[in-house]
Amino acid sequence: MFDLEKLVRPNIRSLKPYSSARSEFSGVASVFLDANENSFGSPLTKWYNRYPDPLQWELKRKIAGIKSVPAEGMLLGNGSDECIDLLIRAFCEPGIDRILICPPTYGMYEVYAHINNVGVDEVPLRAADFQLDLEGIEGALTAATKLIFLCSPNNPTGNSLYREDIEVILNNFDGIVVVDEAYINYSRSRSFLTELKDYPNLVVLQTFSKAWGLAALRLGITYASAPIIGVLNKIKPPYNINAATQELALKALDKLDEVNAMIRETVQERSTLLEGLSAVAGVQQIFPTDANFVLVRITDATRVYEYLRDRGIIVRNRSNVVLCDDCLRITVGTPEQDQKLLTALKEYPNA
Ligand SMILES: *Cc1c(COP(=O)(O)O)cnc(C)c1O
Repeated sequence: MFDLEKLVRPNIRSLKPYSSARSEFSGVASVFLDANENSFGSPLTKWYNRYPDPLQWELKRKIAGIKSVPAEGMLLGNGSDECIDLLIRAFCEPGIDRILICPPTYGMYEVYAHINNVGVDEVPLRAADFQLDLEGIEGALTAATKLIFLCSPNNPTGNSLYREDIEVILNNFDGIVVVDEAYINYSRSRSFLTELKDYPNLVVLQTFSKAWGLAALRLGITYASAPIIGVLNKIKPPYNINAATQELALKALDKLDEVNAMIRETVQERSTLLEGLSAVAGVQQIFPTDANFVLVRITDATRVYEYLRDRGIIVRNRSNVVLCDDCLRITVGTPEQDQKLLTALKEYPNA
């Protein structure tokens, strides 16, 4: 049985959160002398002297309208990376509790676990298709496992995980299942957002860093039940999303059509890139991708990586990652950028 109260670290359960000036009074007033802000103004936009809304309600309501999820079921983070850190700190007792990950996958789950002195159990994806090893996961779970991180589409392999497999884990694990959907906009698979109402132990992560084209703003979203969000709100820094980011994200959300057009362009260019790569000598394997990048197995990957780097083209060398020997991860570029890449690869001296 999923029991949120029991899952939260005892010190967090009993924590009395910091109560900021802006959260204690949120009504209408004309004189604000409660937060030691600069009453005379700001050298920039006139309201930058004021602390921002700690719970970012305007922004959350706008996202709620687009995603059809309640604003109370969201926590905004300074990048999804902050969301990952908050989840680990809320649920994993350092030195005792553990997370489970399925490598090769996003590196930050492990990094934040280690920063928090939380153990990491690894059950690699199946070598044949980069799908979940359900039996392996079942065998690796212990009473100390609090969080399972699943990434779909997965970074760096690019594939989406089978929906039914994720559902099996959601149905059988009493801890929290985090589904990281950083690349969901490029995928043929449906988001798990619609499953939030059915699974109290589900957390979905999304980000403005990829399809939304706003990596510089640092804005990630945790979607979960209101009670889980309540726990995370207790421990987040009060003003973790700055006013400029909130303002710019609101503007970006008005440009949904533009963003959707970029997504379509990216997906189309992805096919062109895959076709081009398949004609490159040395390319042994192009893994199926549902993301805005592709994992490619290529002879002498590290030498190819260095050759490209010396020509001013940077890709990600994943050769040292489990199951990724001789693999490069290549982000889908513009047609011009991809052409430069393909031309360089064709000129690589194979001998
Ligand atoms: C890029 C990426 C993110 C985004 O992280 P931000 O901190 O929001 O920029 C999250 N998860 C995965 C798997 C990623 O590849």
